[in-house]
Amino acid sequence: MGALASFWDRLLDLLYPPRCLGCGALNHWLCPACLASCPNTDEPRLVPVDANNASWRLPVYSFTVHQGVAREAVHALKYEGRRVLAGPMARCLADCLPEGYRGARLVLGVPLHDRRRRERGYNQSELLARALAAEAGLPAVSESVRRVRATPPQVGLSARERVDNVRGAFLADERVRGERVLLVDDVCTTGATMAACAAAVAMAGGEVVAGVTFTRARAGADS
Ligand SMILES: [Zn+2]
Repeated sequence: MGALASFWDRLLDLLYPPRCLGCGALNHWLCPACLASCPNTDEPRLVPVDANNASWRLPVYSFTVHQGVAREAVHALKYEGRRVLAGPMARCLADCLPEGYRGARLVLGVPLHDRRRRERGYNQSELLARALAAEAGLPAVSESVRRVRATPPQVGLSARERVDNVRGAFLADERVRGERVLLVDDVCTTGATMAACAAAVAMAGGEVVAGVTFTRARAGADS
């Protein structure tokens, strides 16, 4: 099966060789020149998290801003079924994180609600988390946090409305207890989704030490 699968992969590569999403260059999904043209975000965004009668700020790192080829990559992974992009995008995530990822021992993709996951067939954040975990040699535990409440899309909501919209939307189980978790998503806008997820992990006795996303969008921007 493995040999057959890799035969088909090679045949597909011959028939449809990778082409850069940005410039069309052959043999890359995201070529080095297009990636180099993506502006760095430098500092992590500090996202307020409230849980267990405490509040703190979660650093959320992003590879680049939500524009140009990076925005196209997010859309292609999320809406066009281009799962193959998760690998090259995860390498960018690894590059923008600080050395040692603040001691994270587990990598977790922000979960989708089951219904949306079934509609899409996969969760793009989980694909990024698995690829990043493989890159970093860390276990991914995507099933330890569930989205227990379907929430309307965050697009078009204010920062305050986004916080209210996702509050209590996630529930973490005992597998995160005592763990140091790195949270992965495709886009960070206000960070409200990451904050709600980090709160759920904290309530189950774990700690999200950092978040990382491929792009960072402005609130109100179409993501
Ligand atoms: Zn390119």
